[in-house]
Amino acid sequence: MRALLLSEYRRFELADLATPEPAPGEILIQVAACGICGSDVHGYDGSSGRRVPPIVMGHEAAGTIAVLGRGVTGFSVGDRVTFDSTVYCGECSYCRRGEINLCDRRQVLGVSCGDYRRAGAFAEFVVVPARIVYRLPENFVFAEAAMLEAVAVALHAVSLVPVRPDSTALVVGAGTIGLLVQQALGAAGCARVFVTDVDVARVQRSRELGATAAITAGGNFNDQLLGLTNGTGVDIAVEAVGNNEALNTSIASVRKGGSVVLIGNISAEVTLPLQKVVTRQIRLQGSCASAGEYSRAIELLSAGAIRVKPLITAVAPLEEGPQWFERLYRREANLMKVVLTPGVKQ
Ligand SMILES: [Zn+2]
Ligand SMILES: [Zn+2]
Repeated sequence: MRALLLSEYRRFELADLATPEPAPGEILIQVAACGICGSDVHGYDGSSGRRVPPIVMGHEAAGTIAVLGRGVTGFSVGDRVTFDSTVYCGECSYCRRGEINLCDRRQVLGVSCGDYRRAGAFAEFVVVPARIVYRLPENFVFAEAAMLEAVAVALHAVSLVPVRPDSTALVVGAGTIGLLVQQALGAAGCARVFVTDVDVARVQRSRELGATAAITAGGNFNDQLLGLTNGTGVDIAVEAVGNNEALNTSIASVRKGGSVVLIGNISAEVTLPLQKVVTRQIRLQGSCASAGEYSRAIELLSAGAIRVKPLITAVAPLEEGPQWFERLYRREANLMKVVLTPGVKQ
């Protein structure tokens, strides 16, 4: 099968690899679409240490079932499916509580680190355990289905804090995840959702996706936000960047007793305004990946309650993968999600 192999850091090969065979309980999927994640770009140059070459990356994917491993029930060859990026064991104490994202033996597709190596979906075929596979509705476009992983991440983050009909929220960072969090907050019933980013184009895209107000960072951001919230701040802030500035903006923007959800983690460490957090009784809530939000994500996309099409910059063949990776790596302006199409025609 054709695969986009990271043979060394910042170097791809379009390789011809052996097509994997599904073990009992696994499914072989012909990959129709696989999105390039920010974490793949950070793996590409070795900075994250999570994509040790040689590795086929890719964990945001959809396709059709090619072969069912022994003992797999409930699916048929030809089914259109997507799958979780997390491979969980299903047996540890976290899995038994439904916290599959926290599984003790958690692996992520397309990741190779010190502990494991698991081939991902920038290839014609990928093998995954049947328990992480979800069937897609007939009319679902594969390139949009490849966004379901990110939608599930956004839904999970929002599920960790109470949202009431009168809630106000701020999303800090209008990248792919931020714009999906914005829509997930709306879908959860949040009355008013504000968004901020340093990038004017992203602020504009947030507006087009229905933000109550989208504000360019810097300048008089704080005054604007206070003006929009009767001087109190928002109930919920979601930090979707992962650096000092975004964290501090998030903490400064919530009302007393408010919640800050942390998804971004570009920086390993940040400075915490401890007294502000303690004396204003602010709740800090980390959020990792997703824990079974796929079915809900499929429903919301089908219903048009969350839109992903405006977030897709390009749908390109696998052969163009190396160029797109390099463009994303160089942080070219106005690039959002790039989806590669390794297998069947769209
Ligand atoms: Zn990802
Ligand atoms: Zn587990």
